[in-house]
Amino acid sequence: MKVIEEEQPVCVMEGPWSPLSVIREIVDEGAQEDPFYVMDLGEVVARYHQWKELMPRVEPFYAVKCNDDKLLLSTLAALGTGFDCASKAEIQLVTSLGVRPERIIFANPAKPASHMRWATAAGVNAITFDSETELVKTKHYMPQAQLIIRIRCDASSAQCPLGIKFGCDPVTEAPRLLKLAAVLGLSVVGVSFHVGSGAAETAVYARAVRLARELFDAGGAAGHRMRVLDVGGGFPGNSGTCIREVSTVINNALETHFPSRDVRVIAEPGRYFAAAAYTLATMIHATRELPAKEEEDGANHMMYFINDGVYGSFNCVLYDHQQVVAEPLEASSERAGPCSLWGPTCDGLDCVLPACSLPPQRTGSWLVFRDMGAYTLPVASAFNGFPTPKVRAVVDKRLWSTLKELWPLTEAHFSFERVTAPQTPPPSPEPRTPPPSSLNPLDHAVFVECALK
Ligand SMILES: *Cc1c(COP(=O)(O)O)cnc(C)c1O
Repeated sequence: MKVIEEEQPVCVMEGPWSPLSVIREIVDEGAQEDPFYVMDLGEVVARYHQWKELMPRVEPFYAVKCNDDKLLLSTLAALGTGFDCASKAEIQLVTSLGVRPERIIFANPAKPASHMRWATAAGVNAITFDSETELVKTKHYMPQAQLIIRIRCDASSAQCPLGIKFGCDPVTEAPRLLKLAAVLGLSVVGVSFHVGSGAAETAVYARAVRLARELFDAGGAAGHRMRVLDVGGGFPGNSGTCIREVSTVINNALETHFPSRDVRVIAEPGRYFAAAAYTLATMIHATRELPAKEEEDGANHMMYFINDGVYGSFNCVLYDHQQVVAEPLEASSERAGPCSLWGPTCDGLDCVLPACSLPPQRTGSWLVFRDMGAYTLPVASAFNGFPTPKVRAVVDKRLWSTLKELWPLTEAHFSFERVTAPQTPPPSPEPRTPPPSSLNPLDHAVFVECALK
């Protein structure tokens, strides 16, 4: 089975290494000018094991919209997760990796009819709904579907609230929809919710599970055989965060309201699996110095232009309300000063960080951003002619030996070539223009001197 055609195999790393050391190695080669990601497969594997340890009863169905990188999907498929797909194309992508349709939930409560027909043909049966019209459509296009009703139960605050768009009211709407489904001869098998992506509250899961319990009873009374509870997404994913607290809340709520092991419990984590595995490296290609701003303590304000912006990976700043943190690749003993980071396009909106503080950087310096795997890549565009970053995947050698045995990964996915080996062979041996970073500091000084005369 061909899984990751044409793509660069995962580099197997020996000895001590970190995403930052890999970035340094690539940058030090001198030929890299475009932004790129280093993706650590080990992070995904570690998170899978942590999930299994902390919530053994909850089967994760990874939400593909968070990051549809094939390698991430293949790794999760190898580990044995299911998948939450929202469209025909996402279902196609996941099934193209060899994932069986039973491992997919079509978790979009508002589905185009053509996608429903297609899902039926592909053998995907589990779908969510939250309205009367969706039930009527289901009767038409997926009469055999196993329906899961999506209710609304919002965290008190979330990075990206979803309740405004999806989820019927568990008290005023859901019981009626369950009855209507029965009248239509459709089978509802469970209840789902999504408390909001990047949820800041954990107690919300307990409230939601309790509401789901009531609807299990209402569904049973309407003649449905209720057997699936879907606790959705909303789990934290950045390095330094942990699902221990939320897992305790969920486990306790399950023991209280769903003690029977006959109920299958699933979740749809996105951010949790994707965020921390990806570290983004960007290069500064232009700088501008502005007179000190009043609030900035007398120091001049530096504008740094980097080669990825809000039309690329940093769309997450606009759409996902992420707060990104820039880290210089090279440590410096110089004093940090006020600055701002700007993307490469000619749009004034393309600002990555309006105010931050960094030691002086120059053209050719690299800035690194951790935790950039969630809601970044799939939304990025090449607006204004700036390419979206490529992903360089790495895995520790100790992990490689187990991973390569796990379907759908094979030995062919891995390489012992150094990480700096070219991604694709260059079409012709064109001489490369040296990147600005290779400017000799002396040349630079002379250049500045001449310009100031
Ligand atoms: C986006 C989404 C998810 C993933 O949410 P995270 O907060 O990233 O875990 C899960 N389920 C559905 C239906 C979604 O729309």
